[in-house]
Amino acid sequence: MLVEDKEGVTLMTYKISDECFACGACLPECPTEAIAEGAIYVIHAEKCIDCGACAAVCPVDAPKPV
Ligand code: SF4
Ligand code: SF4
Repeated sequence: MLVEDKEGVTLMTYKISDECFACGACLPECPTEAIAEGAIYVIHAEKCIDCGACAAVCPVDAPKPV
């Protein structure tokens, strides 16, 4: 989901931190297919609806609200 702050800047609501070890647990949990695979998984801001499902299953709590 994209939101605007007072300066009109777009912000991501969830972001995966460097703690990610690419286990893949979050991928099937995302209802909007916002997560992309990689050495560190990435959440695409335009698709994320801020539901928190990825964070709920992550063993290292890498997806965090921002
Ligand atoms: Fe997908 Fe929800 Fe995580 Fe956003 S917060 S990446 S919509 S599972
Ligand atoms: Fe990375 Fe956590 Fe997703 Fe696993 S569940 S791929 S550690 S963000």
